[in-house]
Amino acid sequence: MLSFWEKQYWIDNGHTAVIGSGIVGLSTAIALKRKFPENKVTIIEKGILPTGASTKNAGFACFGTVGETIDDLNNAEESEIINTIKQRWQGLKLLKENVSLKSMSYQNNGGFEVFDNAESFEKCYESLEYVNKLMLEATGIQNCITVKKHSIGNHLHKNALFNPHESQLNPVKLVKSLIQKAENLGINIVTGIGVKSFEEDKNKVKLVLDNGIEVSFQKLVFCTNAFTKNLFPNLDIIPARNQVILTKSMDSIPLKGTFHMDKGYIYFRNIEDRILIGGARNLDSQNEKTSEFGQNTYIQSYLKDFLETKILQKEVQIEFEWSGIIAIGKSKKPIVEQISDRTYIAARLGGMGVAVGSFVADKLASIFK
Ligand SMILES: Cc1cc2nc3c(=O)[nH]c(=O)nc-3n(C[C@H](O)[C@H](O)[C@H](O)COP(=O)(O)OP(=O)(O)OC[C@H]3O[C@@H](n4cnc5c(N)ncnc54)[C@H](O)[C@@H]3O)c2cc1C
Repeated sequence: MLSFWEKQYWIDNGHTAVIGSGIVGLSTAIALKRKFPENKVTIIEKGILPTGASTKNAGFACFGTVGETIDDLNNAEESEIINTIKQRWQGLKLLKENVSLKSMSYQNNGGFEVFDNAESFEKCYESLEYVNKLMLEATGIQNCITVKKHSIGNHLHKNALFNPHESQLNPVKLVKSLIQKAENLGINIVTGIGVKSFEEDKNKVKLVLDNGIEVSFQKLVFCTNAFTKNLFPNLDIIPARNQVILTKSMDSIPLKGTFHMDKGYIYFRNIEDRILIGGARNLDSQNEKTSEFGQNTYIQSYLKDFLETKILQKEVQIEFEWSGIIAIGKSKKPIVEQISDRTYIAARLGGMGVAVGSFVADKLASIFK
């Protein structure tokens, strides 16, 4: 039970409640506070820490590969694909304006798209010129992606497609920097308490919290990504779990940078002297369509085997295994909408929220009244 003090002076009586303290919730609260400094902004987060994807991801500051782009052409118009890449690129630019490179351990080591065999490389290589044309339109970069040899293992095709503009960062340092920025702006962050339901009338929007306590605000913004589906079951949002494994420290590792394979379903990178590998949710997509955290031993074994046979050619010791939940839908376009007089949604980041999150936050602030 909350005390009178806690309810009255910690949570209640703010102007805007932002629900969720992931990258999008924090960035949105910051953008709203900067645009409307007179509004008291409160973030309400159900976990003690952010508990979705923002501190569990791979930390790729990336904006698209050839394999992903040509796969996307099966489901979307060219103009929509250009727009998606543009939003990621702009999002990364905004992120770098908001958070210093040093404070999120941002490293520009480039990104490689690697291939299992010559045939899959050739298929992407055929489209390289075309994808570079889309990249140019979206980012202004000429010949963004080129062919480069890599030196990983003996079982991957030797040619990779290399994007020198791709980088890597530390997602927890990123989120902690955003928290610090939010607190410096006077944003109130309440953690460990979730929003169960809400009700809007012409004067306010009332939130019912998990413990049954009711609090009221003038405006409400849901930045709850995959979990948005719990309160808005009709939205086109599909929660998708992603598995990640991380090796123990090793004497030497054969890679530096961000690596993508199989249209982006598999990703790996160095973290200091360890290798992180994650994804492959397409191998068991039905079971991974869930907002429940948990291990999928089939996918984890696949990732470990991939690491041992394709990347390292030796047995590895895994020290960490975890999962995170992303939000996907028919379209890769994030949902940034005012859904009623007082309520807004910024969600469905399509597994690319490190890149596109700051763009989504700015867009939400631009439609906020
Ligand atoms: C394994 C993995 C790897 C990834 N790798 C990358 C990458 O390399 N590059 C990249 O760009 N993106 C990557 N992503 C995607 C990226 O992490 C997400 O798109 C991004 O973090 C989404 O941020 P968010 O703030 O919208 O959502 P989240 O981080 O999920 O935050 C939503 C928050 O809302 C809270 N919440 C939910 N319901 C309620 C409620 N009812 N009341 C109060 N609080 C609530 C949750 O606890 C959570 O903290 C990856 C994701 C995963 C899982």
